[in-house]
Amino acid sequence: MFKKILIANRGEIALRIIRACREMGIKTVTIYPSSIDTDQFLESKLSDESYCLGEEGILGYLDQRKIVQIAKKSGANAIHPGYGFLAENGDFADLCKKNRIKFIGPSGDTLRKLGNKIEAKKIARKIGLPLIMGSEIAVKNEKELLKIAKEIRPPFLLKAANGGGGVGIKIIEKENEKELLEIFQKLKRETKSAFGSEEIFIEKFIKNPRHIEFQILGDGKGKVIHFGERECSIQRRNQKLVEEAPSPFLDKKMKKKMGKMVIKFGQYLKYESLGTIEFLVGEDKRFYFLEVNPRIQVEHPVTELVTGIDLVEQQIKIAAGEEMTLGQKDIKFSGWAMEFRIYAEEAANNFQPNEGVITNYLAPTGKGIEIHSFCQPGQRVFPFFDSLLSKLVVFNKHRSGCIERAKRAFDEYIIDGLPNLIPFYKALLNNQKFLDGNLSTSFIENENLISELKKEKLPKKDKVNSQKGENEELARTVAYLYLAKKKEEPKGQEISRWKMAERAKVFEEQ
Ligand code: ADP
Ligand code: ADP
Ligand code: MG
Repeated sequence: MFKKILIANRGEIALRIIRACREMGIKTVTIYPSSIDTDQFLESKLSDESYCLGEEGILGYLDQRKIVQIAKKSGANAIHPGYGFLAENGDFADLCKKNRIKFIGPSGDTLRKLGNKIEAKKIARKIGLPLIMGSEIAVKNEKELLKIAKEIRPPFLLKAANGGGGVGIKIIEKENEKELLEIFQKLKRETKSAFGSEEIFIEKFIKNPRHIEFQILGDGKGKVIHFGERECSIQRRNQKLVEEAPSPFLDKKMKKKMGKMVIKFGQYLKYESLGTIEFLVGEDKRFYFLEVNPRIQVEHPVTELVTGIDLVEQQIKIAAGEEMTLGQKDIKFSGWAMEFRIYAEEAANNFQPNEGVITNYLAPTGKGIEIHSFCQPGQRVFPFFDSLLSKLVVFNKHRSGCIERAKRAFDEYIIDGLPNLIPFYKALLNNQKFLDGNLSTSFIENENLISELKKEKLPKKDKVNSQKGENEELARTVAYLYLAKKKEEPKGQEISRWKMAERAKVFEEQ
């Protein structure tokens, strides 16, 4: 087993990994940015060692060489990337390998394959997973785009092959060549700056689908098991807000069929580590492959609660070369779990993210509750990091009990100082359709939750990010890249494309 692991991440996921390591007797090393007050980083306090990256904001967390250097200096034998930042970066996985440090995740080659949605779809097709109708190749030029658009017909989506975190997806609702070309060019520019790639493909838009995904674990030698499904249909901006396990929609037969297929997918790749195969499921219960996330996911705690298995522990054991003793038969399901992602966002204002200071903080406790958070009173919420403050995870025997428990927990939860999603979840937990499990990825648009919220008094804001508009993340990315460029590169020198892509990819998540 590893003696020491460097955690190349921050916030709640860094704490989650520290806690797993402590229970396994593994020492931990964390990293923190520069000029920011180190008291603000709970992971620095809870780990055995913590090193300064010497760069403000997210840049240090993307500095592959520096992170490897710190790992070597501290004597860490492995690096856990968490999610976001370098978690899906094949080149970083290779760099770790070159330096004889174990990257806790799949191989560089697997990461590169799965990081491109078109490539992932090719694999899915090979093993017989149903695909959403679409171009299946990157659209080369405008002429080809118009031709494919005529065949597929709106509504369809233009998607960045390397997109993630809900960014790089644009809907085309009606036939209008001029508008289509404009959106295509705009998305191309945006994805180039955000993900370092211009690859865009087309996918038919599925109306009111559910997002249902399967958690897998592979040993890298061909053994793969799954931990059942999670439903993540409550979303905004194509990114999840609430996740639950099991799904209130899947029947036994579908579960079995999808479970078999995800195992086949993992076996085809001789998949190593944790991974998630995402699907969209139509109102007619037909399911379609969406993409693979080759890393630990934000919503992994709901799976842990219904299976009783510590997924991070399993992930670390496999990375350390231990034999995978768990078999499919060992995975038993009981109870119901729900996770609510509490972002520092104002739901009534188009879910706009905020920065500021948490003036008062008190988390709920008690039976069936897990809090995954780095927050404390006086916590600063920085504009350049993901605005996720906390994940409230509840567990109970049945879905209705879970909902009652979540209501109780939100009544106890105090996060003062900046707007956050607690009022939104209180409204959601009183919505009949939600209570009935009648969900879809368009739930928030289709229901009247937001206008009801607007009537309520919202918590006082300390400081609000001035950037507005529907593409908040992108605006932040571009602004940040601009600042980074100004700060780092001497006048007149071109910033390297590689550097831009690295920064942009990750900043896109913020
Ligand atoms: P990301 O890499 O950003 O997670 P995904 O392809 O997984 O991108 O899609 C994210 C979300 O966008 C889905 O959960 C779903 O809500 C929506 N979405 C993606 N593709 C489609 C589609 N073809 N039809 C309808 N909704 C879609
Ligand atoms: P999950 O996929 O775990 O359900 P998210 O889509 O919210 O959750 O992603 C978790 C974090 O990782 C977010 O901050 C997101 O922006 C970031 N992220 C997701 N996909 C990518 C990617 N392809 N590249 C960089 N960051 C990503
Ligand atoms: Mg996805």
